[in-house]
Amino acid sequence: MSAAVVVGSGPNGLAAAVALAEAGVQVTVLEAADEIGGGTRTAEAILPGLLHDQCSATHPMAVGSSFLQRLDLGRYGLEWRFPEIDCVHPLDDGTAGVLHRSVARTAAGLGADGSRWSRLFAGPAADYDVLSEDILGPLLRIPRHPLRLARFGIPALLPASVLTEIFRGEQAKALFGGVAAHAFQPLDRPLSTSIGLGILTAGHRHGWAVAAGGSRAITDALAALLLDLGGKIETGVRVRSGSDLPNSDVTMFDLAPTAVAEILGDRLPNRIARAYRRFRYGPGAFKVDFAVEGGVPWTSEPARRAGTVHLGGTFAEIAATEREIHAGRMPERPFALVGQQYLADPQRSVGDVHPVWTYAHVPNGYAGDATEAIIAQIERFAPGFRERIVGTAVRTTTGFAEHNPNYVGGNILTGAKDFRQLVFGPRPTFNPYDVGLPGHFICSAATPPGPGAHGMCGAHAAARALKYLRGGHRT
Ligand SMILES: Cc1cc2nc3c(=O)[nH]c(=O)nc-3n(C[C@H](O)[C@H](O)[C@H](O)COP(=O)(O)OP(=O)(O)OC[C@H]3O[C@@H](n4cnc5c(N)ncnc54)[C@H](O)[C@@H]3O)c2cc1C
Repeated sequence: MSAAVVVGSGPNGLAAAVALAEAGVQVTVLEAADEIGGGTRTAEAILPGLLHDQCSATHPMAVGSSFLQRLDLGRYGLEWRFPEIDCVHPLDDGTAGVLHRSVARTAAGLGADGSRWSRLFAGPAADYDVLSEDILGPLLRIPRHPLRLARFGIPALLPASVLTEIFRGEQAKALFGGVAAHAFQPLDRPLSTSIGLGILTAGHRHGWAVAAGGSRAITDALAALLLDLGGKIETGVRVRSGSDLPNSDVTMFDLAPTAVAEILGDRLPNRIARAYRRFRYGPGAFKVDFAVEGGVPWTSEPARRAGTVHLGGTFAEIAATEREIHAGRMPERPFALVGQQYLADPQRSVGDVHPVWTYAHVPNGYAGDATEAIIAQIERFAPGFRERIVGTAVRTTTGFAEHNPNYVGGNILTGAKDFRQLVFGPRPTFNPYDVGLPGHFICSAATPPGPGAHGMCGAHAAARALKYLRGGHRT
């Protein structure tokens, strides 16, 4: 029987572990933290019983992940819940862009821009399950569905600032821009629409799901399946060098490329070590979880029913603040995201006190405190919010890096999603999961298809490792 070690127990590490264990490999997962899950953890951070997602919160990509779907994780307690409205982007004039799972309902709320929204999303959303075979994997390969990919891929190449020119009204522009901003990239760069288009298309097909009981339910289900398949998990084990790795036939790194270079040192071919050391990290996140009596008093009525609310004003304002954080400057009014997962999953609340998840986009390594900036952005669209705060839990950019070494400088995407790293992953190659040392693979969100709790990076890396074990290729 072959043996595998997986370093890191984020959703991609666990996905890789499960895929290998399913194939009969004896798998051991080594996790540095005291608990498993990486970016899919949930904790009682403020009050007993009040459940806060520590990182990932909303899962259009996970609920639509072909790998997670195939595992049928409902057997292990994973249940998806859906908010009444997926996402709302309020504006200062009291109007808002409102995103529903249904393309038609979303379009109906966007006035003259409705038909343009439909033209952009109706086809790709209907085709999403087929399309995802191409977009949720390495981009540099022969597409399985070239025509469908072209229909999705051509707008994805555009800068968000160009694509949003098709919209006349600010509601559609800002709604699109807020989702595109999930890429933490200047919105005038090529491909700056791609992550937003992916999230919106997946969401129109599958909805902006949250996991019942918190995102840790994704972790718990994957871990329970792994244990059933005979796998082992050890926590509190930080791998710092090759000598910390037990003997195994394959090693999977659910880590940032710079960490892989550090661990494997001069065992890596020079050119790969150089590429990994030069891997770039994007801007950071500053997170504040709130315990809020009675919820957030949004002026916009749909925002009171939305799982996610994007705060940053007009498209032009978001584009300007994203440019600022990219240049290393903290804007006065940063783009901020608010998660109200409890609306779909009320068991996370305690009585009328609710967990409200927020983070702001800030420069990488930002050393200041963005708590007031986040509160001010919420107050801008929900006057009276401040008086309802019962407690807060803050995670700074350095706090993120301590919580999870993959989030260098608070960069929660495990790498800048600029043109080069989005297309190639950690280095220019057709095999982005190979680290250039036989039997060693990288499977983190630094690899295609990138960030999210979908497990697809882990699944693709495991397929590559299994091919290696069967003698099908050399790394
Ligand atoms: C604030 C925030 C909000 C987010 N929101 C969403 C969202 O709403 N939806 C979504 O889909 N995604 C979201 N994400 C992104 C998502 O969480 C990540 O993309 C995803 O968790 C990446 O999974 P991964 O397996 O690649 O790595 P990670 O989840 O980062 O896990 C890596 C694991 O490796 C461990 N590790 C690191 N170094 C070592 C070492 N040397 N030895 C042993 N173990 C080590 C870490 O402790 C960690 O457990 C969010 C992330 C954050 C932080």
